[in-house]
Amino acid sequence: MLTDNLGRRFYYLRLSVTDVCNFRCSYCLPDGYRPTDEAPHLTAAEAATVVRAFASLGTQKLRLTGGEPSLRADLAEIIAAGKATPGIRRVAVTSNGYKLPRVIDDWRAAGLDQLNISIDSLDRHEFAEFTGHDCLPRVLDGIERARALGVEVKVNAVLLADGAERRLGEFLHWLEDTPVTLRFIELMRTGDNRDYFASNHLRGTTIEQRLLREGWQLLPRAADAGPAREYRHPDYRGRIGLITPYSEDFCDSCNRLRVSAQGRLHLCLFAEQGLDLYDVIRTGDSDALARRVRALIGGKAASHQLQAQQVGATRNLAMLGG
Ligand code: SAM
Ligand code: SF4
Repeated sequence: MLTDNLGRRFYYLRLSVTDVCNFRCSYCLPDGYRPTDEAPHLTAAEAATVVRAFASLGTQKLRLTGGEPSLRADLAEIIAAGKATPGIRRVAVTSNGYKLPRVIDDWRAAGLDQLNISIDSLDRHEFAEFTGHDCLPRVLDGIERARALGVEVKVNAVLLADGAERRLGEFLHWLEDTPVTLRFIELMRTGDNRDYFASNHLRGTTIEQRLLREGWQLLPRAADAGPAREYRHPDYRGRIGLITPYSEDFCDSCNRLRVSAQGRLHLCLFAEQGLDLYDVIRTGDSDALARRVRALIGGKAASHQLQAQQVGATRNLAMLGG
């Protein structure tokens, strides 16, 4: 198992398959995706080499993210290759859900286990304002279909200060009868969203206090759990998770590594440029790639420096997949 100097074990790989996105989320790509002069993204065969290398180092869970992964026509192929890799137990995708009803059957047939869909508001008009697309009903239909196919569904909602109480009320109402886990993510500051962050950041503790007042109970945390704190309530079919990157011990439970769509290893979401792996990835030699990753892991820092306003080279999370 890949372990760093602080004893953190990395069994979870987040692989970005594209940095292109069709949405314009206000905190991420408010002006939409702008092409860069970056190298083209990894092919499906190169993505499979990355997964083989990490699996040989103990990775058990693979998440495909972006940008928007559903914009890749070969995503089902990448899911299938991931799922067929010895050692990989679960394959997940994070998506904005835009294409979900059209693609979910293929993804499930390819072996998808878990789906995280981003919905920041259950109000159709506000959803359109946040994302630039009036497609909330379609996203919700896609979620229903995924659940019917047996895919575990989580919904990601970024906490945004203005209107947070109202949105929480709408989400709670939805969770009464919808057996999904809703994960509130604290807005993170990136290179591009400085002013937006200043006026919209809301601490997750505000939400947690309301949940505790209303009878939600914190679930015990598994030893290998990631950084989310999960709550349940006997009157609700859904659960709520909180991801609070600004809390002090957030990085202690870090169990994940990231590879960008250009084949760079990011030891932290907020590290500097990323460590280029592409020269090895392109050879298809997963053993050599595993040796390279093992040699680089010692460079992982104890914690991000977000509290000190240092965001590394991360301009927005579409570059890396969050
Ligand atoms: N496009 C896909 C989506 O939105 O689900 C996958 C990529 S997106 C970067 C992954 C997650 O990061 C989404 O849930 C999104 O809401 C979240 N995210 C993006 N920018 C963020 C920020 N500045 N702070 C917190 N979460 C952010
Ligand atoms: Fe695209 Fe996801 Fe960023 Fe929204 S959060 S702009 S859907 S990458």
